[in-house]
Amino acid sequence: MEERYRQAAEILNDAKTVICLTGAGISVESGIPDFRGAGGLWAKYDPMEYAHIDAFRRNPGKIWKMVFELMEITMNALPNPAHLSLAELEKRSMLRSIITQNIDNLHQAAGSRNVIEFHGNASRLDCLNCGQSYGASEFDLNGSPPLCRDCSAVLKPSVVFFGEAIPMRALAESERLSNLADAILVIGTSAVVYPASSIPFIVKSNGGRVIEMNLESTGLTHSITDVFIQGPAGKTLPELVARL
Ligand code: NAD
Ligand code: ZN
Repeated sequence: MEERYRQAAEILNDAKTVICLTGAGISVESGIPDFRGAGGLWAKYDPMEYAHIDAFRRNPGKIWKMVFELMEITMNALPNPAHLSLAELEKRSMLRSIITQNIDNLHQAAGSRNVIEFHGNASRLDCLNCGQSYGASEFDLNGSPPLCRDCSAVLKPSVVFFGEAIPMRALAESERLSNLADAILVIGTSAVVYPASSIPFIVKSNGGRVIEMNLESTGLTHSITDVFIQGPAGKTLPELVARL
């Protein structure tokens, strides 16, 4: 393991442009379950059923029951040492940008400034009818679904549901950075949700190096990962930063 930390530190020290792709795993130690964690939210609510845009359009009241629970968890969560380590790397100018699949706002709460929200952010609510946007904290989020103050339509959390497109700016900026980066940290993602999952491959195909941190191996580990560091990100990431 020590040798792997050394190799990863060497890659990061030598690279000119480092980016990071994060997934639900980085927030598990903040108390937000990932898709697969036993007993979590997603054991109760099948994401394919509850996180599809058609389901929301058909029956927003049903989906909001799940969203209330999700909001309560994410709005009370605090960044953990993994989020703080990435903010520290950015401060030291060793990390250009984080591309996150998470919707929990914890990178920003940790102090990271260059964060691309690939799947949106649950702390905002959008009106699909008139385009108005609101802060989630402006509403009392239990009871009945929040309504647009302009047109009374049911609001939708500003997150990308299955069946919806990735926000254009996030997609374009991620692609630009992936083509620029000579190293990528891939943290806590099963790397199966396309197109986020293609980002490490773009970096690799341009000759960049891939450092992966996860509790378990993924489809990347034995294909494009150069250095795999196994363990909880709240522990492994501070360990890595301490070696830079
Ligand atoms: P995923 O649930 O498919 O995979 C999570 C990965 O994290 C797994 O590979 C797991 O082994 C790893 N992991 C779990 N705990 C870890 C830890 N402590 N340290 C390091 N790794 C750990 O998540 P995904 O790849 O992000 O894809 C799921 C989709 O669900 C994403 O689109 C994301 O937007 C969404 N989601 C977001 C949140 C959130 O905002 N926190 C939570 C659940 C799901
Ligand atoms: Zn409206």
